[in-house]
Amino acid sequence: MADIAQFKKNLQESIIQADTIKLFDNLLTIAVEEGASDIHIEPFENFGRIRLRVDGLLFELIQYPKNIHESVIAKFKIESGQMRPDEKRVPQDARVSTITLTNKEIDLRASTLPTVWWEKLVMRIVDKSKKTQKLNELGIEGTIEEQILRQLDYPNGIILNTGPTGSGKTATLYAALDHINKVDVNIITYEDPVENKMDGLSQSQVRADIGYTFAQGLRAALRQDPDIIMVWEIRDKETLEMSMEAAMTWHLVFSTIHTNSAAETITRVLNLGAKPFMLAGTFNFVMAQRLSRRVCHNCGHSVDMKSDKQYFWAREEISRIPKDTLVNEMKKRSITNEQWQNFLDGKLHVGSGKDPKTGETCAVCGGSWYKWRIGIFEVMEYTDDVKNMLLQGKTAFEIEKFALSKWMSNLERDGIYKVIKGMITLEELYRLIKHKDVEK
Ligand SMILES: [Zn+2]
Repeated sequence: MADIAQFKKNLQESIIQADTIKLFDNLLTIAVEEGASDIHIEPFENFGRIRLRVDGLLFELIQYPKNIHESVIAKFKIESGQMRPDEKRVPQDARVSTITLTNKEIDLRASTLPTVWWEKLVMRIVDKSKKTQKLNELGIEGTIEEQILRQLDYPNGIILNTGPTGSGKTATLYAALDHINKVDVNIITYEDPVENKMDGLSQSQVRADIGYTFAQGLRAALRQDPDIIMVWEIRDKETLEMSMEAAMTWHLVFSTIHTNSAAETITRVLNLGAKPFMLAGTFNFVMAQRLSRRVCHNCGHSVDMKSDKQYFWAREEISRIPKDTLVNEMKKRSITNEQWQNFLDGKLHVGSGKDPKTGETCAVCGGSWYKWRIGIFEVMEYTDDVKNMLLQGKTAFEIEKFALSKWMSNLERDGIYKVIKGMITLEELYRLIKHKDVEK
């Protein structure tokens, strides 16, 4: 186990010594060992500070005297070999591969931004030593799990995953590819960047700067005898049309798209110029997801939330689920009678930040109540009913309303099931999905 405290001490020393090499070595190591996704190095009028994003939220790691900021940024620009140290007026970016003091290989996607107090540097970390997670490790369960496994067996059509940046789309796509990565199928991926190298896949890095786009990649794929194609993102009409064509000619296509919900994807795809019959003819299913912080397993305990507004919302949403669907779902997700009764009584599981044995600050979560993350999912399957509604020109809203009255589990419902199981909190759920009452 790496000694993070020692690296933190070294980081402090490096600031006193103005040793920028030592600073970066220790900073990157701390970030990787803490499981951070991003590092922010930012200047203000009287000081500079370094923040890390861990489990989706930013926290301050350290502050430093303003006078070393310039040399820190200059050092990174020179080391990257891709940024001009003398250019401070425009944003620049770089991709760097490096290794931490704990011997972990990482890729950094770095960018600078000129601010009123000098340049800010942000680095996105891709930890290459991280293993591809399995679908069931991501928090996919119940009917959603059955739907996904069934869809992954289909020979053709389009499977989309949607959600904002940092919602875990990438991990889910890789897990899906890992699930279907067998010797008898040819899988080609077009990625930007290739975050996770997997044996058995032909992974290609697109380069928009030299005209190698997703759409061009798709065109080339069809000459490479593929069974399954993964296009990192559909963001223009051409990529969408090529994806639909590939799906029509008996290929399975995976991709992501930027929308907030599974239903909203219908509107987005129609706005990109697709005809409803094309959508009905090619789409298999659309998934939406968010990443929620998990309740700390060490300091989690039960509290009374009966009079809480968010508890009221959850009870209301649960009451909208058809009775037989609810009973089925609880069985599939192994929700016990005790967990269900506790939920009905308003007794919910949250972190306390204190170690239950010693009463000291919880060493597992550092007093933050949360440790690790888990996905919240929703799936809209393009069943015959949905396809018919599309062909009749129904709106995304009408289709979603219909699906929710039948079999569909949305982000809120999937999240509530996870609250009942003590995995996440209502506070975290409604932070991520924003209840409709909040806007009022
Ligand atoms: Zn804890």
